[in-house]
Amino acid sequence: MKTIDTLEGLAMPELDYQHQNIWPNDFGQQQSPIALTDAIPADAIELAITQPWRINQEIDDATCIRLNGIGQTIIDAQPFQFQQAHFHAPAEHFVNSDVVAELHLVHQSAVGGLAVIGLPIYLGKANATFQSVLNHFERRHTTAIELELTTLLPSHGYLYHYIGSLTTPPLTEGVQWYLIDDKKLTVSPQQLAAYQASFVPNNREIQVRNHRRLLYQAFQIKERR
Ligand SMILES: [Zn+2]
Repeated sequence: MKTIDTLEGLAMPELDYQHQNIWPNDFGQQQSPIALTDAIPADAIELAITQPWRINQEIDDATCIRLNGIGQTIIDAQPFQFQQAHFHAPAEHFVNSDVVAELHLVHQSAVGGLAVIGLPIYLGKANATFQSVLNHFERRHTTAIELELTTLLPSHGYLYHYIGSLTTPPLTEGVQWYLIDDKKLTVSPQQLAAYQASFVPNNREIQVRNHRRLLYQAFQIKERR
């Protein structure tokens, strides 16, 4: 395992999940996460992965593991660049108590719009991709890693869609959330314990929904490179 850089991006003080109420927040009406209840059935949407989500860097983000990479996804006819993935344990959106963690796949459009695809993680069989992430993890370091995350996304199913925010400062609003409703992504109890040994809980509390609509939509991946 080769260390290519020391930890970057610590200009902001380490996030304190015990004192979320004092996180700087200039927004307030469309915050995330929310409880996934009272969803409205809506038209199916199509996704296309036109460039695989390829990870090349694994970063100790102090509160979680972040995986930087490149890729391109067309979501509902709009192209987004895949930027990074990271983990939250416990989960943020998935109020079902069987969900033990949540994977966020962060995308950005050419004009700066954000879209996050979320995947719930359940306890079950060990996951080989997650094991690779654990094996490469180095406290306070950035390590080189080659991983493809596209295979974690089911080819069809249902998702929750709503407009919210980043769940860490700057808590920017206008984020399109696509939360996959699927139970196939599992980690073993040992893998979860190994992750939790390095990170305190990093789930933001459920936020007020206000008048936002939560859609429940069938989806399919119509193309996967
Ligand atoms: Zn996140």
